[in-house]
Amino acid sequence: MQADVLFLVIPVMTVVIACTLLVLWWKDRQRLHILAFAYWAGAFSLGTIFQGLLRWNFPPFDIVLFHLNAAIAITALIWGVLRRDEIKFPASALIVLMLGSTVLLAFARYLEDQSALLMTQNFTISLMFTIAAICKWQVVPRNPGDRMVLWVFAALAAYSFFRPAIMLLVQSSMTMADYQASIFATVNLTLSALFALLIGLSVLATIIFDNMERQREEARMDPLSGLRLRRAFEEDVDTLKLRSLHSGVPISLIVCDIDHFKRINDGWGHAVGDIVISDVGALIKRTIRDTDIAGRIGGEEFCIMVWNCEISAATKLAERLRRSTAELNAETSGQSLKVTCSFGVAQLRYEESYASLFERADAALYQAKEAGRNRVVQDGIAPRTEERRAHSEPISLLG
Ligand code: GH3
Ligand code: MG
Ligand code: MG
Repeated sequence: MQADVLFLVIPVMTVVIACTLLVLWWKDRQRLHILAFAYWAGAFSLGTIFQGLLRWNFPPFDIVLFHLNAAIAITALIWGVLRRDEIKFPASALIVLMLGSTVLLAFARYLEDQSALLMTQNFTISLMFTIAAICKWQVVPRNPGDRMVLWVFAALAAYSFFRPAIMLLVQSSMTMADYQASIFATVNLTLSALFALLIGLSVLATIIFDNMERQREEARMDPLSGLRLRRAFEEDVDTLKLRSLHSGVPISLIVCDIDHFKRINDGWGHAVGDIVISDVGALIKRTIRDTDIAGRIGGEEFCIMVWNCEISAATKLAERLRRSTAELNAETSGQSLKVTCSFGVAQLRYEESYASLFERADAALYQAKEAGRNRVVQDGIAPRTEERRAHSEPISLLG
């Protein structure tokens, strides 16, 4: 393939990638990392057009502008990748690298030092991708797209590192004009196109996998309360129970039921009832820790599995929730609607099933209702001393 054809193919390809990314970003504008990926693709396209049109005939601005454009685009790409992973972006290192190399490059271009030019340009890009690959390597990959991004970054770092040596070997025996007409220039451009395509595909893969994950997560959530649906809650309870058994960390279950909810529905209407469910769900969500799990397991019933929590601490948490619920003021056309909840609390016993734990917490909840509602009752059966000991010693899942 001729270099001229590539100067047409690469911009078209990267513009298609940029437009696809822009559309994906437009659908969810909070995900700014997708916009950064689109910027990278757009800038890559512009750089190639620029290179194709000027063919390094305007020193020193041609190569300097080309390099600056590429370095900013790569910085945007790295920023996007690291932002998606919620890890620190090494801004100062990349900015120093970008500006320092641009100044060096301007000098090298002014002095017409071909090898300095090649080395500055390629080593900068190699270093940028090395930094990005090291940052990315420290994050547990969420999906195959993440692994692809890491490997493409590492390959690009290596390729940019060795490229000057190969090019200098080839170029030293020919003039710039000869080089540009040679097969080596075409191979070089083809590899650049290939890497651009690989980056584009890998970031697209991360976005597609993220969307799939999000849809799966949404299907597990109750839109009214913002908490897990019963099935998802029970699935996550199984995982938490296994972790508790493995590590000896205690877990407790809180069952919560809104008091006289039928009266709220009858007196204020179903829509207000829904607002109350949503408010209680939001309250639970902002009160518990990230390691706890909560779900809406019935009409106006909620469950919270509290990680690393014995029954006394779980009772305190339930008490805090009870008080906050009583302070909730559901949005009702100016009138104040008082909401209260009753709670039952139980701690998981050694090798106990979830069904049995739920039964005990539910029985405690029933007692709270019987005793007049708006209260917390803790299950009376505390783990026996020997169970506590066994539970606090890590045990093997196999043995
Ligand atoms: P208690 O204090 O004994 O818990 O009395 P209660 O009225 O809260 O209990 P009960 O179980 O008798 O009534 C629950 C009501 O919740 C009945 C049902 O119509 C209503 N409900 C169930 N799901 C929803 C929902 O998604 N939205 C609304 N608004 N109401 C719901
Ligand atoms: Mg109720
Ligand atoms: Mg109920």
